[in-house]
Amino acid sequence: MPEFIAAVTCIDGRFHRPLQEWAVTHLRARYVDLVTAPGVSASLAAGDRTVLDDIGEHLRPSMEVHRSTTVVVAAHEGCAGDPSTPKQQRAALPEAAARLHAHLGGIPSVIGVYVHADGRVESLASLAGAADARGDLARR
Ligand SMILES: [Zn+2]
Repeated sequence: MPEFIAAVTCIDGRFHRPLQEWAVTHLRARYVDLVTAPGVSASLAAGDRTVLDDIGEHLRPSMEVHRSTTVVVAAHEGCAGDPSTPKQQRAALPEAAARLHAHLGGIPSVIGVYVHADGRVESLASLAGAADARGDLARR
């Protein structure tokens, strides 16, 4: 069981608890490090270089010190930082996850999720990480 995973999500505090509870339950992490920026999944999907660099930098302690090998990218319903429709948000999530995955060198697994207003979390993208492969090799 991983001690830590990381989540890249909006600043919106209504969605942090459901996201953390989902991650603890479904990814079997003990703790969830949060990296937040308004409407961050939309910025990632758009390939915003500054946001990618900032998020990558902010994830570094989680990945290097806490040894997080999974990063969840979350979008959510009713986002003040992302004016697109829920359908557009959900369609953009795989792109956001793929761009972050590439930016991080494919090292962590990246999972894209959509958090509904009622707190339901829906997984919409999943990319395997090189760290997983290294873990497999190390266990052999
Ligand atoms: Zn938001």
